[in-house]
Amino acid sequence: MANCTIYLDNAATTKMSRTAIEAMLPYFDGVYGNPSSLHSAGQAAAEALQNARERIAACLGCTAREITFTSGGSEADNQAIRSAAALGARQGKKRIISTKIEHHAVLHTLKRLEQEGFSVTLLDVDENGLVTPQQVEDAITDDTCLVTVMYANNEIGTIEPITEIGAVCRRKGVLFHTDAVQAVGHVRVDVTAQKIDLLSLSAHKFHGPKGVGVLFARKGVALSNLIEGGAQERGKRAGTENLPAIMGMAAALEEACASMAENAKKLTALRDKLIDGLFAIPHAVLNGDREKRLPGNVNFCFEGIEGESLLLLLDDKGIAASSGSACTSGSLDPSHVLLAIGRVHDVAHGSLRLTLSGETTEEDVDYTVQAVREVVSYLRGMSPVWRDLQSGKREFIIK
Ligand SMILES: *Cc1c(COP(=O)(O)O)cnc(C)c1O
Repeated sequence: MANCTIYLDNAATTKMSRTAIEAMLPYFDGVYGNPSSLHSAGQAAAEALQNARERIAACLGCTAREITFTSGGSEADNQAIRSAAALGARQGKKRIISTKIEHHAVLHTLKRLEQEGFSVTLLDVDENGLVTPQQVEDAITDDTCLVTVMYANNEIGTIEPITEIGAVCRRKGVLFHTDAVQAVGHVRVDVTAQKIDLLSLSAHKFHGPKGVGVLFARKGVALSNLIEGGAQERGKRAGTENLPAIMGMAAALEEACASMAENAKKLTALRDKLIDGLFAIPHAVLNGDREKRLPGNVNFCFEGIEGESLLLLLDDKGIAASSGSACTSGSLDPSHVLLAIGRVHDVAHGSLRLTLSGETTEEDVDYTVQAVREVVSYLRGMSPVWRDLQSGKREFIIK
């Protein structure tokens, strides 16, 4: 990030906190034993591992035995869904309910399961990206084995009614998984109170290290292995534990949860300032729910421009942002999330996601508003589409 001074891509990944980095260091060359070894170096590592497990469980409202360490959010999503599918298949229940706006780690796993003979119902969301508990209830059939609905959307920041959906699933006796990768460490999550059976989280989305995450599975929900081998993680996830990363994750999560209320308040104020500033741009629309929204998420579509050009010019101005169309494969398809909330292709292509962190300042927000205004008007000035819109040859979609 040589020339990047303002980092507004915290939904993609975050900078590690000092506390998390320091929590990792002793486990590289001090306590470096294998937690499975019987000697005291191994046992010191095993104790640290157990300690991390208990601290993470305390943050989520569950017990240490319900925590399985994974390589991140994607692996946790894959294992959660495949485990529920395997449990369902044994009872002849082969239907899974989810939404159209899930992360690809969920959607692609579901696609695979469809090829393997499962039926998948993907619920529509409303224009703000919300699914209702009633929709979930109506979709549940006798052969449903799993409901998987993300806690908060990574693109548009919408927070789903997880507590209510958890209640519906528990009442109907269907397992409930939530991809809470964007939520944990940012908004309050309590797996017990919210009747969540399976939950995925990832450390690098809350200032912890990359390549480590957690799958919470309520006691009694048997996991199936994605990775076979040794007996680590109660036999459910083989491979020598990444202890430094796990220690960093525990520290980052505790820190995020301890400062959550204060941080959310600050971020919400900055977020709203940014939203208000960008609304001054004509023919712009906010994506995602105005209220039920992650504290640090801003996502807009600007008519008549391309998200990619916007990103490059913002990068030149020292701002790291993201666009809905810039998906990992570099594909030109617009975001499935923006399409699901009803944006047409042309509009979805002109999207901009700005995601804040505790380090974001009011000056950053002021500078960003100014920069986006300049870049949008510069790009529109060069756009034939914009010329047609201006001259009335074409009608505005965003009024
Ligand atoms: C980042 C993210 C993931 C993937 O997590 P990784 O740790 O990068 O594998 C899954 N779901 C959501 C909602 C995410 O934001």
